[in-house]
Amino acid sequence: MPSLKESQHFVPSAGIPRISGSTPFREVYQILEGARKGAFLLLRNDRPVSYVKAYPLAEKVITDAKGDVEKLRLRSGQPIQEVVTELSGQLPEVPVSAQPVDVMADESALRQRLATAFTVEELGQPVGWYLNQETVYEAQTERTIFICSRDHRNTDPDNGTCWKCPLPIVRTEKEKVP
Ligand SMILES: [Zn+2]
Repeated sequence: MPSLKESQHFVPSAGIPRISGSTPFREVYQILEGARKGAFLLLRNDRPVSYVKAYPLAEKVITDAKGDVEKLRLRSGQPIQEVVTELSGQLPEVPVSAQPVDVMADESALRQRLATAFTVEELGQPVGWYLNQETVYEAQTERTIFICSRDHRNTDPDNGTCWKCPLPIVRTEKEKVP
């Protein structure tokens, strides 16, 4: 049986940004832009508790705010853990498996499970992640663009308003990370 490390759905440990729950919403998108990644591991007490798809999270936050500058400003500064908790149930927050899987685990069995980010171990040491469904894996390559009412494109929500003009962020788009 081939190693999970050879699977297209395998990502080495350093390949997914790890973001502490206290990080403000806006900073999360700055980190992701720098890392050219569209998903992250949300940490609680330094341990990953979930894998979060950043684009649908941003889309939900911006849609909910309806261009209200004050709401957007508050959201931008809010700890990411709180944002995710408030929106959970509506959000593609993918659980991290409670139990790690070995690199020699049966990939087809993992594919049949609900969307999960599995910790992969080799000789008992964590070596990376197995993202079992296409939508989970693909979220990594979705870059979020925050767009103001004058159609300026921003790579993070700043304080809820555009970098180039004083208008609020009113919608989002996703781009494929090259
Ligand atoms: Zn603008």
